Amino acid sequence: MSDNAENRNNNFIDNIIDADNKSGIYGGEVYTRFPPEPNGYLHIGHAKSICLNFGTALKYGGRCNLRYDDTNPAKEDIEYVRSIEEDVRWLGFNWDERRWASDYFDTMYDAAVELIRKGLAYVDDQTSDEIREMRGTLKEPGKNSPYRDRTPEENLALFQEMRDGKYADGEKVLRAKIDMASSNINMRDPVIYRIAHREHHNTGDKWCIYPMYDFAHPIEDAIEGITHSICTLEFEDHRPLYDWVLKEVGFWPNPPKQIEFARLNITNTIMSKRKLRALIDAGEIEGWDDPRMPTIAGIRRRGYTPEAIRSFCEQIGVSKSNSVVDEGMLEFCVRQDLQNRCENRNVVEDPIKVVITNYPEDQTEMLELDNHGKIPEMGKRLVPFSREIYVDGADFMEVPVKKYFRLFPGNEVRVKGAYFIKCEEVIKNEDGSIKELHCTYDPETRSGNDFKGRKVKGTIHFVDAATAVKIRIRNYNSLMLPDENGEYQLNPDSVEETWGYAEPSLKDAQPGERFQFFRHGYYIADTRYTTDDEKVFNRIVGLKSSWKPPK
Ligand code: ATP
Ligand code: MG
Repeated sequence: MSDNAENRNNNFIDNIIDADNKSGIYGGEVYTRFPPEPNGYLHIGHAKSICLNFGTALKYGGRCNLRYDDTNPAKEDIEYVRSIEEDVRWLGFNWDERRWASDYFDTMYDAAVELIRKGLAYVDDQTSDEIREMRGTLKEPGKNSPYRDRTPEENLALFQEMRDGKYADGEKVLRAKIDMASSNINMRDPVIYRIAHREHHNTGDKWCIYPMYDFAHPIEDAIEGITHSICTLEFEDHRPLYDWVLKEVGFWPNPPKQIEFARLNITNTIMSKRKLRALIDAGEIEGWDDPRMPTIAGIRRRGYTPEAIRSFCEQIGVSKSNSVVDEGMLEFCVRQDLQNRCENRNVVEDPIKVVITNYPEDQTEMLELDNHGKIPEMGKRLVPFSREIYVDGADFMEVPVKKYFRLFPGNEVRVKGAYFIKCEEVIKNEDGSIKELHCTYDPETRSGNDFKGRKVKGTIHFVDAATAVKIRIRNYNSLMLPDENGEYQLNPDSVEETWGYAEPSLKDAQPGERFQFFRHGYYIADTRYTTDDEKVFNRIVGLKSSWKPPK
């Protein structure tokens, strides 16, 4: 057992492991695995499974494998394998061994032969429709197949012929002989091998029969010496079959234990490779790494950090009942992580030009602005200020609403790090739109001066007009929203493209660099579109949250 066993935050899985360590069934060993099917990019649901499997192994000083569950001869893509490994590493984990389930096809075949020999498996000639009809329902028991009583010799010969390619897809299957009257439908003689004349990326044309998941998975776990096989709740009813396979095959003295936990769901997004792929195929989003996607690649490009994801997975915990986590909680974790690590930069959106009419024409001051409002160790930076500046469109109202303390005609505000300015006049274009504001400033109020004069209620920020850098900004909202029937549809406003003016230092922003755009939110220079000449920023998360952690 690891040293920190006493002070760790136990969940029900830890309790099972603690009991196993006490009984000594696995000799105190903890060995887990993360078993993705390499048929798409991982999403944040997988991140929960990754944190759980790798995290549990770390907690107990155990081991964790990355295992590709590639028993389906479906075309798997090297791109997916590469992305899965990149994502697991990015989350901060490393596997002890990398395994391929298809490497175990020989053992699986031997295990099936063993079951046949023991009279516990038979070849069935029924079609899949017939098998389904005979299976019965929750209320009614199933009916035995007319082929159920074939002798082991006959079954061995037929299974060999299946393997030799004598039959077409679907012509025969191998079924476990358990109990057609079982109250658990999974135990009603489940199919354990099927015929599929398909090339496999690993085994080529060696096999034309492939094991079913429920038969293959326990064997994969047992071969690797896995002790605790953690999976999602929908497999709870399959656990008797998992245990049956290992017991009856009988190759392993202390077979692994399957433990189920509730899968992660998050509001206003979807957590299924298949559905995410459909969005991509429909051309509705950029790809697996679109920053709106709940894929690890998407949230990485969006600017989320591995620390935030790990903390999120830790905070939602593991449970035995399905629930949906508010997307606000994920954003909360991201914000918590970013708030102490991002430097401030001034950026204004929807900019309005301000001319400070009493400020000297050819003067530029370099103001010292804090890189972080609460962490002085993060230092200061120099930001130019001169007669013409831009302020944020949201910081001016020609006719102020109640309790509006920012700029409006006749009102005085503090420009953060600079001076008080007062709006004297609104200059319009011919079409009535605002051309610029004419303001005056008070030199006495320079930031850092011991000014004890008037008080102002509003503070705004600015960008110096002469040196402003134009940047592109993408503000993200929920990927999906429920329609009137409660069905999720792509949110038409899931991304809003806009632009802004930034202080000159952002001219050098590197792809992947994160900042707090002062008073706006956290942003990252997009890794795909940011170039030397043009900076494109993704909004990671806004500053304010409607979600509050429970007390
Ligand atoms: P999808 O339906 O998105 O393809 P999957 O479960 O088929 O998901 P796999 O590649 O088979 O994807 O899953 C690898 C592991 O990740 C499995 O152990 C699975 O239980 C786990 N996993 C998948 N989705 C979630 C989720 N939403 N929450 C927690 N664990 C998950
Ligand atoms: Mg799957």
